Amino acid sequence: MQRLDLPAYQIFVGPCLSAWKRFWETRNYSRLAVLVDENTRRSCLPLLEPYLPADAVLIEIEAGETHKNLDTCRFIWEEMLRHELDRKALLLNLGGGVIGDMGGFCASTYKRGIHFVQMPTTLLAQVDASIGGKLGVDLAYVKNSVGLFADPQAVFADPAFLQTLPFDELRSGFAEIVKHALIADRSLWEELQEIDLHADTDWSRWLLPSLRIKKQIVENDPYEQGPRKALNFGHTIGHALESWALEDGQAVLHGEAVAAGMICEAFLSWMAGLLHERTLAQVVSFLQPRFPSLVAEPGTFDRLLALMRLDKKNEAGQIRFALIGPIGQCVVDQTCSDDRIAESLEYYRAKTRSAD
Ligand code: NAD
Repeated sequence: MQRLDLPAYQIFVGPCLSAWKRFWETRNYSRLAVLVDENTRRSCLPLLEPYLPADAVLIEIEAGETHKNLDTCRFIWEEMLRHELDRKALLLNLGGGVIGDMGGFCASTYKRGIHFVQMPTTLLAQVDASIGGKLGVDLAYVKNSVGLFADPQAVFADPAFLQTLPFDELRSGFAEIVKHALIADRSLWEELQEIDLHADTDWSRWLLPSLRIKKQIVENDPYEQGPRKALNFGHTIGHALESWALEDGQAVLHGEAVAAGMICEAFLSWMAGLLHERTLAQVVSFLQPRFPSLVAEPGTFDRLLALMRLDKKNEAGQIRFALIGPIGQCVVDQTCSDDRIAESLEYYRAKTRSAD
């Protein structure tokens, strides 16, 4: 097990369920509640159960992004009340980014805030979502529209949980590892070129390099005033694609949308003169065959642009991008015309079509 120390909390990486138990036993919480969805109850809770106190309360919600909303929060808050959790209780979020973002949000607002711990069980949550203190839920299908910044008391990222994670979900998490390399670590990007994605890939190998990048970025800019915006590379268009899919009732995973967003935003980086054409081609030929193509017909571009206009990073009505170039470096607060954004979507469409 390895430990990364942030100013406000520690991240345990590797076999760390005993470390969790020590954490629980040495703190003076009144009660423990564990938030799960139906999948993490079935696949992850059995691993954790030997490390839980006998009177732990279980709160179970339905799995998936479509449930990351205020209706589910209301259910979680009411469950906390029903079990008479007081302000000294602790909430343990056992699940992926949806459980972590929503559970953290519910804990931070319940009775004006109780402590919570993140125990991420997806690759995406282990390398990205569980650290940095961004919490929240979607509103009217617009991603993460309601939320706040609040730090967990600790993060326990145990790769044992990944054994039951379906391949598509693992690949979705891999998109955020690629993002970390593209914005901050050229040598990690070069190492990733070797990777052959399949069910038996040793994903745990990428946890620490990726977490170190995210840790350094959030430590320097915890409230996303400047450089932390780099973590949004691929997400301006990615979130619009994800919201559009949610509206449309399609199942698109977060990392799949981000992978498509990274292709579009690499194109915008090239158009802005930040990325060499050869490097753009390298990024596209790495991402395109590894991730599913999302349908983004020209008829949807106006809706996608409208969704981008609701993005949290915008200022004075202008859509803001984090763009890359050269690989391993990122510039934030970049603006692009609507025509250019539409061009990037068309570029993505053409690339994915030609590969079909
Ligand atoms: P998720 O939480 O929906 O988990 C994906 C699926 O895997 C779910 O069906 C879940 O039940 C299942 N699952 C989880 N762990 C499992 C396991 N070990 N075995 C079997 N099944 C398991 O999605 P995600 O991809 O983890 O997270 C996506 C969310 O994270 C999005 O809402 C996104 O906005 C958010 N996010 C937040 C941040 C942040 O900084 N807060 C960063 C990136 C993404």
